[in-house]
Amino acid sequence: MTAKRPYLEALDIPLWLPRRSLAGTRVDSCPPESSNHPSLSKEGNPQDHLRSAMAIDDRALPELLFSDDGTPLPEEDWEPVIEPDPADFAPAAPNRRAATIARMDWEELTAEARQCQACGLCTTRTQVVFGVGDRQAEWLVIGEGPGADEDQQGEPFVGRAGKLLNPMLLAIGLKREQAYITNIVRCRPPENREPTLEEAAQCRPFLNRQIALIRPRIILAVGRIAAQNLLGTDTPIGKLRGQVHRFGPTRIPLVVTYHPAYLLRSPREKRRAWDDLRLARRALASEPLL
Ligand code: URA
Repeated sequence: MTAKRPYLEALDIPLWLPRRSLAGTRVDSCPPESSNHPSLSKEGNPQDHLRSAMAIDDRALPELLFSDDGTPLPEEDWEPVIEPDPADFAPAAPNRRAATIARMDWEELTAEARQCQACGLCTTRTQVVFGVGDRQAEWLVIGEGPGADEDQQGEPFVGRAGKLLNPMLLAIGLKREQAYITNIVRCRPPENREPTLEEAAQCRPFLNRQIALIRPRIILAVGRIAAQNLLGTDTPIGKLRGQVHRFGPTRIPLVVTYHPAYLLRSPREKRRAWDDLRLARRALASEPLL
């Protein structure tokens, strides 16, 4: 039993064997966890980075990403990278407020968000849920909006959905605090309704500035609302997952997955979510370091 096992079990994934084993070659069960957790630092030698991405125990996964000598598998084994559509480039609202926010540092940005009254959600919120995690994270996780627990505690994904999001991230070797986690809107929509397009648009300058300051190397869009808002589309989530999209002028890879609240209702889809997480990890591993 490896340390990763509970996290995979949270995804209803009891044991993964390499697909190659079906062809009759060597079968490895989950190897012991390395005590050296792979570094997620943005700095350092690019080879180190690639090695660390590979070191996240891929031997335990159903599809091997690398051949036995460590070279990446041929291109046809990889999911297609979709070329960006102009709609992927979500421009900041062309107004003075957005332009002002786009120049803020972290301190100014959090202060501005905490007193924001740009949409009606400010009248019903307990507090603004700005975001949490490593401000230099490689992984940026974007959900829909705070629920009741988040509204009370002031931190995203601390309720039931968060209790599933955490093991999902751990299953790909990522502690919650190593990522940065935020939402499309920073204030709780009443009765947990979906945020409106207008509410999302008013909150977007904050999100855009967070992205610009963090400069993540991969964005995980969690749930339909996050995916559709970020990609500027009304395409159903089932069609948005399974691809590596590109976000913004710096073309950050963006992968869509199901919202953990949906996975709690539809546990059979956890396997697809696991596929999404592995796709995101591969997308990050194949990104050049800037
Ligand atoms: N659901 C979300 O989308 N975000 C949260 O922060 C909590 C629940």
